[in-house]
Amino acid sequence: MTLKQVLQKIQSKEISCLELADFYLGNIKKKDKQLHSFLYVNEEGIKKEAKIADKNHSDINFKTQPLYGVPYALKDNILVENMPTTAGSMILENYNGGYDSAVVSKLRNVGALVLGKTNMDEFAMGSSTENSAFGPSSNPHDVSRVPGGSSGGSAVAVAADLAPFALGSDTGGSIRQPAAFCGVVGFKPSYGAVSRYGLIAMASSLDQIGVFTQTVDDATLVFSCLIGKDVMDSTSREIDKPKNKFNIENLRIGIIKENFGEGLDNRIRDKIYEAVDVYKKMGASVEELSLPYADFGLAAYYIIMPAEVSSNLAKFDGIRYGTHLVQDTEKSLIEDYAELRGKGFGKEVLRRIMLGTYTLSAGYYDAYYLKAQKVRTLIKKDYENAFAKVDVIISPTTPTLPFKFGEKTKNPLEMYLSDIYTVNANLAGVPAISIPIGIIKEEGKNLPVGMQITGPQKRDFFVLDVARAYEKAVGN
Ligand code: GLN
Repeated sequence: MTLKQVLQKIQSKEISCLELADFYLGNIKKKDKQLHSFLYVNEEGIKKEAKIADKNHSDINFKTQPLYGVPYALKDNILVENMPTTAGSMILENYNGGYDSAVVSKLRNVGALVLGKTNMDEFAMGSSTENSAFGPSSNPHDVSRVPGGSSGGSAVAVAADLAPFALGSDTGGSIRQPAAFCGVVGFKPSYGAVSRYGLIAMASSLDQIGVFTQTVDDATLVFSCLIGKDVMDSTSREIDKPKNKFNIENLRIGIIKENFGEGLDNRIRDKIYEAVDVYKKMGASVEELSLPYADFGLAAYYIIMPAEVSSNLAKFDGIRYGTHLVQDTEKSLIEDYAELRGKGFGKEVLRRIMLGTYTLSAGYYDAYYLKAQKVRTLIKKDYENAFAKVDVIISPTTPTLPFKFGEKTKNPLEMYLSDIYTVNANLAGVPAISIPIGIIKEEGKNLPVGMQITGPQKRDFFVLDVARAYEKAVGN
């Protein structure tokens, strides 16, 4: 069921809130042993809340509570009061979020109910969920393949009808890439459009909370419940509200040369061009552009992100948060920290902490971190120049189809290439969405393909409009 269908059923009382919660709990019971998209299911809690919602149903104004009675899933790095929040890490295994994150409060205020917390790569580092300390999730289209990551669990939950919508976080592609791999819509808003208060930070200048849904309309509805300046996040800000009625005939689409080069699966390339033709038929114009610094995005990202990671993760010392795994009282405090962090963090997390500590060190700061920041500014300017000529940029979301488990775990650099088309939007802080545009058959399985639409900063609703136009045209 799409969110729209769910709302229609709830608001007309065709089904009760409790029946709806039971429907999703039943789906989770049936399918999630195999898919492993949830790390925690709020079974008792949601039933209780759904019963109360049913009691109050007749007094509700659905204009002010548009998601009344609707269950949703959220990535396990977003805090919910009195629920576990692990960020996919052993170091937070028994950590209980002490308060509601801003997004959870906002969704509570519009009537939505927490169904559970979803699986993810540890501290959101990865592109497959294989870095989760609690085991990976599987792609519902072919369970021998990864669902993408790091918000893989949320993408799977929506794709397999285990939740009508889900929240994720996107630092370099972690919403869009799994959305593409699982055949759902994944939207990363402009930096600051949605408060990060209560999101466990990975790289604070890149992190953004966003949504997974089955349709663009659904994404727009959920997104509009999440936005707004929040005093608890000084980087949050208001975004542009749609002014003029969207008109596809004036739409100018940019295609970036650099996005169609080596490394892109030809079958994906063809699908993207077919989708661009759909826009052309509706009257949009298409122009080929160059973002000269786009090719350096991944390199800059893998300097800036680990630098912020090394700083953000310094607080996990096993004393203030999570379990204290080390029991030896003979040890010094420093030995205790070292052992705990060595045991509690997975390999990828340790790798990035080391990388970041190195690039921030006195001797290497100028050569790496500072240079990467300069490249970041050039990439931002690239986008500004491009958006002076075109309204949106269309590209593939991923260079490959969903890959098999284990295919990229031995070579971290190869895993990093999964984000080649997505990281630039985070570096520039611009909104970007991945929408499903078809399937490619491989080994007898139908594997989804995603297309990415990127727009100027703060024009999130415009990007959603452009995405919706495609969806309408192809009848999704
Ligand atoms: N896959 C990317 C990484 O490993 C992006 C992660 C993210 O967006 N959280 O860093």
